[in-house]
Amino acid sequence: MIIAIDGPSASGKGTLAKKLAEHYQLAYLDTGLLYRKVAFDVIEAGEDPANIEAAEKAALGLDMTDVEESRLRTPQIAQAASIVAAQPRVRAAILQFQRGFAKKPQGAVLDGRDIGSFVCPDADIKLFVSASAKVRAKRRFLELAAAGY
Ligand code: C5P
Repeated sequence: MIIAIDGPSASGKGTLAKKLAEHYQLAYLDTGLLYRKVAFDVIEAGEDPANIEAAEKAALGLDMTDVEESRLRTPQIAQAASIVAAQPRVRAAILQFQRGFAKKPQGAVLDGRDIGSFVCPDADIKLFVSASAKVRAKRRFLELAAAGY
């Protein structure tokens, strides 16, 4: 079973996705984290996130093992992630990663802004989660404040 949860950043889709994955014992992928890791790797390599070649290289070599999530949840990485996520070549590489993940034998829950519409159009269940800009801003503010920002 594949569950696709689309929606904008900080809408609450990740919270829902995690609970569904736990309940149905499915693998879970937060696809925003993939773009964040690409941005992180680009910066670690001393490159500019707007450098298409550097961003594509990081996306093609993406490795999500032993990821320290708190280091990807900083405002600096959020901003850089939004820059790399705008690159079609990065999106193409990440698409392969996401589709590979969705093939897990036990099934998977994926969340992101293009999962049901583009990454897994044949998902068994598709949900779209949204919230007002005010609520989303508040969620993100509280998350960052709790992390010490
Ligand atoms: O949701 P989160 O803030 O972690 O996403 C990080 C960045 O990656 C955001 O700019 C978001 O728009 C982008 N993103 C994307 N496609 C996805 C998931 C996230 O472009 N499927």
